[in-house]
Amino acid sequence: MWNASDDEIGQFLRLAAERILDLKRDPRIKYVSLFKDYGTNSGQEFSHPTSQITATMFVPRRVLYELRAGREYFVSKERCVFCDILIRRSGRPSRVIEARGDYVAIGPYAPRVPYETWILSRNHEASFERTGLSKPGLRTNLAALLRRTLQRIRVLTEGFHLVLHTSPNSLHPSRTLGYWKTIDDDYQLAY
Ligand SMILES: [Zn+2]
Repeated sequence: MWNASDDEIGQFLRLAAERILDLKRDPRIKYVSLFKDYGTNSGQEFSHPTSQITATMFVPRRVLYELRAGREYFVSKERCVFCDILIRRSGRPSRVIEARGDYVAIGPYAPRVPYETWILSRNHEASFERTGLSKPGLRTNLAALLRRTLQRIRVLTEGFHLVLHTSPNSLHPSRTLGYWKTIDDDYQLAY
């Protein structure tokens, strides 16, 4: 992906958004994951360039923790935790890796792995497929930042995981789980 042009990555993002939206039309599907494992130590399965999409009847555990934490933060502060992280990080130049239009690549506080990088939008949006399909300008900036971030990671390491964090299937929301009710306000998409 880091060898592709911004335009080609933009087309990939649009294709991914279309596939995610199509899978979410199925009411059985609770979550759609888009990810790329690169390098033999990172679980790469095929020798050719590939990204994977999986649709599951449950929300993966890590995303569930994010949803719960995002909702708890929203309940106490009436603000999105990801937007607040971005505001605080933007005030500290050492944490901002690069900004491109509305998108910012940051080094998160207490990363789980070395060189963990988050790409967030300054404009709050919970759903990747909504942004990916409706706003070509945003897609272009995201494509450029994604390519440049991957190029940086590739200089440092032979393997990485690239994961999209987007909202669960809000076309068919749960009637029982509380975090769905404010999901458009308290959750934010990130790479
Ligand atoms: Zn936000």
